[in-house]
Amino acid sequence: MSEFDFDLFVIGGGSGGVRAARIAANHGARVMLAEEFRYGGTCVIRGCVPKKLFVYASRFPDAFSDAAGFGWQVGDSSFHWPTLIRNKDAEIARLEGIYAGNLEAAGVSLVRSRAVIEDAHTVRVLATGARIRAATILVATGAAPVRDRTFPGSELAITSNEIFDLPALPQRALVIGAGYIAVEFAGVLAGLGALTSLVYRGDKVLRGFDDDVRTALEQAYGARGIGLLAGRTVSRLARAQDGAAIEATLSDGTVTTVDVVLSAIGRKPNVEGLGLEAAGVALKANGAIAVDGFSRTNVPSIYAVGDVTDRANLTPVAIREGHAFADTVFGGKSWQVDHTVIPTAVFSTPEIGTVGLTETQARERYGDVAIFRTSFRAMKATLSGGSERVLMKIVVDRASDRVLGVHIVGEAAGEMIQLAGIAVTMGATKADFDRTIAVHPSAAEELVTLRAPVA
Ligand code: FAD
Ligand code: NDP
Repeated sequence: MSEFDFDLFVIGGGSGGVRAARIAANHGARVMLAEEFRYGGTCVIRGCVPKKLFVYASRFPDAFSDAAGFGWQVGDSSFHWPTLIRNKDAEIARLEGIYAGNLEAAGVSLVRSRAVIEDAHTVRVLATGARIRAATILVATGAAPVRDRTFPGSELAITSNEIFDLPALPQRALVIGAGYIAVEFAGVLAGLGALTSLVYRGDKVLRGFDDDVRTALEQAYGARGIGLLAGRTVSRLARAQDGAAIEATLSDGTVTTVDVVLSAIGRKPNVEGLGLEAAGVALKANGAIAVDGFSRTNVPSIYAVGDVTDRANLTPVAIREGHAFADTVFGGKSWQVDHTVIPTAVFSTPEIGTVGLTETQARERYGDVAIFRTSFRAMKATLSGGSERVLMKIVVDRASDRVLGVHIVGEAAGEMIQLAGIAVTMGATKADFDRTIAVHPSAAEELVTLRAPVA
């Protein structure tokens, strides 16, 4: 008899934990997984998936107005928030069932409970009080929205956790922050018809993205009527006299009245009360679990993957880290996730797709870089009359001709960047892009027809 009840105990049934548990079980490990909320985790329940469904919903007004130039007469349209929420909830419940079903089919023992670590090999399941002994423990507890409690009335702001279940679509919304979530939800709310403003402390949205991308998105958002309140923060929130609306006072003294304030100022790793101190697990300065390339913590039997490690907080990254962990520890196949090239999309409208280095990063690291850039009105806009522009930018190392980064703003940028990501991951050169035959007529063909550098 083994001294352990299980070979692996996974804490957290989100992107990373589910993948790790399933693959480890497939390798023959005896696995238990505890999830305190819902199987699927942030991405499925209150992240990527419902967000993308909202994004789809928010883009129909564009399609309705574009239609006229193509000869369609679209009648009056109206939006019914409860229908979107009901259909979204049904889809999320379906996906959650699939996640649980796949885990069970793989032979993983599931327990719907919070779990905490007691020592290097013991996990306590709070719902039952059971103490489970496991040879290996994987922490995959994800992250949670940061809640800024530093100004009066801050409790009136909601986070992305709550936005998916609002009883009604707000008519006026203020979004705090300028990262992925803030920018995406500003786009969603504005698209659905809410008068929307973003308030952010920096001078531009999306710090860390290529500057041309940031400028292009701001121009597009401005043209779409989204308020861009740069260089400001919220200093106070208070209920308006009607008892429903919220009066937001900004750091410049202006007051704006809205129905919802969404705070999207980052996420913090879920480590609180997890028993990590008791087990001696070391954390990084920002509270994330410190791990090496194999997702090992400083305690040999405890590993961590996904957002709780704050490496690249994206679902495909968490999944891959979970997979690599399971193959390495239980599959006899040792490998590490390469975090150097990560394609990513911001599902704003217009969408952003980006992979590799920004121009600034490339100049810092490589010195002599060539910039290929184009900005054009999409073909569809010629008949629809839209004025929004598509941006495509390629950053190239002059010495090696290697493509260091690709940045796109425009329809389907997320789809395009997935494919450009293959080329960049493979180390493609600009000459490789150039010898690729264009697909015509498409927007993506610009990526292989840009000949003259602009810088
Ligand atoms: P999670 O998916 O958060 O899973 C952790 C799980 O652990 C949770 O289910 C939690 O309930 C559970 N848990 C925590 N503590 C315990 C405990 N003590 N005991 C038991 N269970 C516990 N990424 C993308 O790639 N694309 C996107 O479009 C995208 N959109 C997003 C939109 C939003 C609004 C948000 C918030 C995130 C988005 N992300 C997106 C990020 C993505 O959701 C995360 O990177 C991903 O979910 C991380 O997976 P994880 O396994 O580390 O954690
Ligand atoms: P981000 O880290 O992307 O952005 C946080 C934003 O909040 C920044 O604009 C930051 O400003 C601002 N901020 C931070 N602290 C404060 C503060 N105290 N007061 C005012 N503003 C503040 O976090 P998000 O919450 O948007 O998203 C979390 C992560 O989830 C993302 O980084 C991403 O990894 C993942 N995600 C991925 C998505 C996708 O793949 N499409 C979609 C949604 C989330 P500053 O820049 O000045 O620091």
